[in-house]
Amino acid sequence: MTTNEPSRPRNFIRQIIDDDLAAGRHPGGIVTRFPPEPNGYLHIGHAKSICLNFGIARDYGGRCHLRMDDTNPSKEEQEYIESIQADVRWLGFDWGTHYYHAADYFDRLYEWAELLIRKGKAYVDDQTADQIRDTRGTLTEPGTPSPFRDRSVEENLDLFRRMRAGEFPDGSRVLRAKIDMAAPNVNLRDPVMYRIRRESHHRTGDAWLLYPMYDWAHGQSDAIEGITHSICTLEFEAHRPLYDWFLEQLELPHRPRQLEFARLNLTFTVMSKRMLNELVRERLVAGWDDPRLPTIAGLRRRGYTPESIREFADRIGVAKADSTVDMGLLETTIRDDLNTRVPRAMCVHQPLRVVLENFPEGEVREIEAPNFPDDPPKMGFRKVPFSRVVLIEREDFVEQPPKKFLRLSPGKEVRLRWGPVIRCDRVVQDEAGRVVELRCSLDPDTFTGPPRDGRKIGNAVHWVSEAHAVPVTLRLYDRLFTVPNPAARGEFKQHLNPGSLEILADARAERVVGQAKPGERYQFERRGYYFADPQDCRDGRLVFNRIVPLRDSWAKIVAKG
Ligand code: ATP
Ligand code: MG
Repeated sequence: MTTNEPSRPRNFIRQIIDDDLAAGRHPGGIVTRFPPEPNGYLHIGHAKSICLNFGIARDYGGRCHLRMDDTNPSKEEQEYIESIQADVRWLGFDWGTHYYHAADYFDRLYEWAELLIRKGKAYVDDQTADQIRDTRGTLTEPGTPSPFRDRSVEENLDLFRRMRAGEFPDGSRVLRAKIDMAAPNVNLRDPVMYRIRRESHHRTGDAWLLYPMYDWAHGQSDAIEGITHSICTLEFEAHRPLYDWFLEQLELPHRPRQLEFARLNLTFTVMSKRMLNELVRERLVAGWDDPRLPTIAGLRRRGYTPESIREFADRIGVAKADSTVDMGLLETTIRDDLNTRVPRAMCVHQPLRVVLENFPEGEVREIEAPNFPDDPPKMGFRKVPFSRVVLIEREDFVEQPPKKFLRLSPGKEVRLRWGPVIRCDRVVQDEAGRVVELRCSLDPDTFTGPPRDGRKIGNAVHWVSEAHAVPVTLRLYDRLFTVPNPAARGEFKQHLNPGSLEILADARAERVVGQAKPGERYQFERRGYYFADPQDCRDGRLVFNRIVPLRDSWAKIVAKG
């Protein structure tokens, strides 16, 4: 955990905690939890929740539990559990010894369910799921009590025990809380606590065929662990009365408090686990860590830093009203983070050969270039080899340039970044008329300064010496969807961006990049920030993922709607 971060911004949850502390409510300290269901990889929305929960624990000297909310039977949790743990750690947080599974509370939850039955607060209902749904009523009409609602305590206990013992088929009976079928809040209309499902559970195997519902499991899990503030997203606000009702009936010594905040929505992506799962399963992306996904694994693979994601969580803040954050803000955050800490280098994405006819063959000039031009002492200097043949970006040369074109064109001059001014004397084309090479001359006086005669030179273009260049593969990632809200209109997969990945296999970087280690980052000048892919950089091969281009090319598109 880095500690030299600025103090956290205030938010309404911290205000509530401050008030609770001032009122002497939590002498044992603040305890929060992050409770993912291990049915997928975590995404940037979860990161918001992680930063909030673990951040509060850190700042209040309390603790944050990591709890697998694994009340649903499922066999394939191990991969997800491992990814969740890795992602939370990578974000810079630590649960210490406080790692839990909701499934470990199944016995206690069962005992408590019997207690509710004995208190006349729960009953076994023989109605089908459809009947239960159909008799729930609406927002304006009360529900209809089940014909089984007034069973005796003895009968309920007997049936419930036999449910557990496996005497009844799946779906034939449920246990319901006996609250109020006319309650204005539909969550209080005798919610289901247990259903029968003959499915193995990753952790409890075949020990159970009764599985608790989220509402029944969650608050009690919080109480067992001594959670003081159970922070969840807004859709659970209407469940809070139920959360409190269960805790009240059980008269547990510890009473956690549920607080709700707005979930993170981001433009140009999807964050529902179902949709992410679909993209992965149908191989529309390369896996859960595909750098185009908003998963934490994907962002990490793309080259995002944990610091940038924590900073993003701070910038978006924590509010009580739902909103959608522009993807551009996430991209700006990583640019701001990397700007002052990764070195610059030059990398030509689509090379065009330039022969400098007045520079001697075989001669090499080592040019000193700052790694961080804004503040050269900060990152020092490197030597960039210069020779007779250099490569420039194909798009930096235009045969018939528009007015005010500041790059290279026939007869015109341009500066090579950190190097001399060159003039294009001749264009060499192949039989098809494609430009294959430029014949240029350089002004030897301009290696170290402006032209002597004071003539104005346009922009500087990046380049590499052909003989010293390092071949690299570039993966140019872009947004995965072409519309701001892909989930809103029709089938979300229709809006996939066909240009979300462009692979440039023929790029050339300057010599220093040849020493890049997997996981290192560069700003390739004039292009963007890049990350040496930790998995694909091997056997001397260099593969860079574009984390983000230097400028937001989507801003205008969004503005146009
Ligand atoms: P699903 O997509 O299946 O509804 P979920 O997003 O609720 O799943 P969980 O594993 O249950 O996934 O989430 C764990 C925690 O992360 C919960 O406390 C939830 O409130 C929080 N969380 C999930 N999505 C977001 C989001 N977009 N923004 C903020 N917090 C989130
Ligand atoms: Mg959930």
